[in-house]
Amino acid sequence: MRLRPHHALCIQKFTGHGYDERFTEHMTKICETLRKSPEAEVNIISVCDELCAVCPHNGGGKCATLEKVDAMDEAVLEAIGAHSGGTLPWHKLAGEARKNVFETDRFEKICGSCEWFDLCRSTSI
Ligand code: SF4
Ligand code: SF4
Repeated sequence: MRLRPHHALCIQKFTGHGYDERFTEHMTKICETLRKSPEAEVNIISVCDELCAVCPHNGGGKCATLEKVDAMDEAVLEAIGAHSGGTLPWHKLAGEARKNVFETDRFEKICGSCEWFDLCRSTSI
């Protein structure tokens, strides 16, 4: 599965709220797949990914908020010591994101400007 770096955060904090019905249904399936298959290999890529595929903000393969999400992706890669193009099993990627982002002040630095931040901050994982 191909995932943008910051989506390793969003997937873990997902509680069924998305941009629209199609996106939410798709994201629910992705989250369920990864929950059932923690060993699944994730290809970390800083471009449109599996979640972006059905996002209403995806304009022909380019995110409408590209500058913001690029900055998030870069910060997540730096935090977890990974690089775009790398591969990790989902449980390892999720664990690195928890340890190096959610459990540190990087969480607010990286996600503070996101519309979902208050919800994600109050969501236990
Ligand atoms: S605050 Fe936004 S970017 Fe951060 S985990 Fe939540 S949805 Fe993803
Ligand atoms: S297209 Fe942009 S807003 Fe939509 S899921 Fe991808 S990164 Fe997020």
